Amino acid sequence: MASRTSEKAFGWSWRVGVFAGIAVYVHATFVILILWIALSYWLSTHSVAAMLEGVGFILALFGCVVLHEFGHALTARRYGIRTRSITLLPIGGVASLEKMPDDPRHEILVALAGPAVNIVIGLGIWVLLRLSGAAAGLGDLGLTSGSFLERLMLLNFMLAGFNLIPAFPMDGGRVLRAWLSLRMDPVRATRAAASIGQALALFLGLLGLFYNPFLLFIALFVWIGAAAESGTTELRTVLQGVTVDQAMRREIHTLSPEDRLSHAVELTLAGSQKDFPVVDPRGRVVGILTHLDLLRGLRESAETGRVAEFMRTDFERAHAREPLQAVFDRLQACGCRVVPVLDHSGSLVGLLDLDNISELFQIRAALREHHTAHPSGGRLL
Ligand SMILES: [Zn+2]
Repeated sequence: MASRTSEKAFGWSWRVGVFAGIAVYVHATFVILILWIALSYWLSTHSVAAMLEGVGFILALFGCVVLHEFGHALTARRYGIRTRSITLLPIGGVASLEKMPDDPRHEILVALAGPAVNIVIGLGIWVLLRLSGAAAGLGDLGLTSGSFLERLMLLNFMLAGFNLIPAFPMDGGRVLRAWLSLRMDPVRATRAAASIGQALALFLGLLGLFYNPFLLFIALFVWIGAAAESGTTELRTVLQGVTVDQAMRREIHTLSPEDRLSHAVELTLAGSQKDFPVVDPRGRVVGILTHLDLLRGLRESAETGRVAEFMRTDFERAHAREPLQAVFDRLQACGCRVVPVLDHSGSLVGLLDLDNISELFQIRAALREHHTAHPSGGRLL
């Protein structure tokens, strides 16, 4: 009974259409980029034709970026992984895959599919130019000279090359990590790939200082991406084989839909629980009142408001024997921080939030380090 989660991955973005079952969004800042391009063409040429060509070129380029993202999404689909949406940002596209494939060989193929699309487009344009007899020598090509198609071809090759840089969050970083994890334990593989990525970021940053400030921006992007990816993969590996009931909070307070918000305030102040499952008189979980819902309720109707008015009824549920990893992925996908945990008969047995997961992670990571140092010790949690 999974609740519906929004497919939208970023705020401030508009849906432009659904292709192959995947919704495509553009972010508001992308529209600003288009306006800026139009304005700067107009100011420098005062020609409507030049302005339209400039905007058309950017749209064609970003069309190629969307196709790149579809390369990832449709390859992931072959391995049964859904893509929630594709969003176009001024810095490129983002395909929000539910998760990455567990098999490193599949991960390599999903990562390579994006740049492969740009290489195919580039080669396609090259063939077209050859056939029409318009192909310039490769040495004459430049980003600011050349025809519309020549520039588009060059940019597609550059996009492929840029994305193959072996550093997160570039596709090349994923390929490197997956390739390393065919040879070593995934946590070590990710740490190694992240270190290689950060070394590369430092190098790019230094280069940027002397040559091109844009490289500094990319270096920062790579540095942050490497750190984030390293954290997520470590979490994934440490949580492997753990079920929800090992991490959930068992001693919990619940609310009834008819309770006043003042009761939730008392419980919040008296203990450490901040989010409350709402249970009806028949014992069914009918909603969840998170800390944010409580604050919103207090703003709107002070302490006399009823829980039923402010609880959310569209919420995720977890089962006690379910793998913790699966629930963690669902929490990330819906941007939620807490789920009620039910047993096989559907009654409430606990509550799981991101703090519980992070607590369990720290304990297991500490034990893991102990066991690596003292291999003869007892077994992990
Ligand atoms: Zn990509």
